[in-house]
Amino acid sequence: MIFSLMSSTEIIPGVFHIQGRFTDKLGPISVYLVVSDGKAVLIDSGTAGSPGGMIEKVMDKIGLNSRTDLVAVLCTHAHPDHVGGLHRIMKLSKARVMVHENDVRLLENPSLFLSERLRLNMIEKITARLEKGPLRVNYPGVKVNEILHNNDTISFGSTRLRVIFTGGHSAGHCVFFEPSRKILFSGDEINNFPNEPRMFFTDCSGDLAARVLALDKIKSLHPDYLLPTHDSPHIFEDVIPQIQQAHDSTQEFLGNVLCLLKARGKADIEQIAFDLTRMHNIPIPFDSPILLRATIYSALMTLKRNGIIEQSKSIWSVHDS
Ligand SMILES: [Zn+2]
Repeated sequence: MIFSLMSSTEIIPGVFHIQGRFTDKLGPISVYLVVSDGKAVLIDSGTAGSPGGMIEKVMDKIGLNSRTDLVAVLCTHAHPDHVGGLHRIMKLSKARVMVHENDVRLLENPSLFLSERLRLNMIEKITARLEKGPLRVNYPGVKVNEILHNNDTISFGSTRLRVIFTGGHSAGHCVFFEPSRKILFSGDEINNFPNEPRMFFTDCSGDLAARVLALDKIKSLHPDYLLPTHDSPHIFEDVIPQIQQAHDSTQEFLGNVLCLLKARGKADIEQIAFDLTRMHNIPIPFDSPILLRATIYSALMTLKRNGIIEQSKSIWSVHDS
């Protein structure tokens, strides 16, 4: 089957798109290798097995030594489909592992993905362990060497990558921007499989207001290349509409959740999920009730932090005032 083939392409000089296996719900899972003057930085590391050894094969092919020439692995965030392969790489390399402080605990203790980030109950956790998909937690934690902050610059060779904290998809999500060629490595913050920029989901630590602000900021940088993890790269005039639609759908999702809550007076997450599946204005992860629930939870927490709604145990309601 052609979709199961992994591939690697130098899409921009010195920027290698290494695409892992195709997965049903999340599409292909990519990592990017950025090479500059004999040094390389890897952006994300895929799952435990994909793209796996292909990363070293690409380095070998271009004459780089993965032990000495790979200087850092930058993690956009610590979800299993982006850091599952990190443990394997770190056995071969002296690269420094970098992630935002809000995802450090998750990177070092992957089981928190099920208990804190998806808030699964005991039965769901058992089912999740039997899952074979890219979100399974089947790898050990990895020690973080360096914490990323908003506006940090990562320098290697003659390349500079600017860290932009986004915090929407997960509490520690960052994207990386190469200003000279306007390349944006967007991780899962602009996650548009299958070529659907309005489609997004978050874990329970995500912040939808932060996502809206970050997308505004990213748009103002006018990237020429948008390199996401779960879909094909976008270039030039295709980039801004992708960012704009991701931005608008986040606002719309928040608006829908608030509207439904106002109409009901009070509701729990299951009720809101049921009502949302009957609205067809924006695409939501219908076929994954767990991801849909996590995204609704993030929306509710965003509204709560902004003083718009309140929570009593599992019941949410709009403020009386
Ligand atoms: Zn993710």
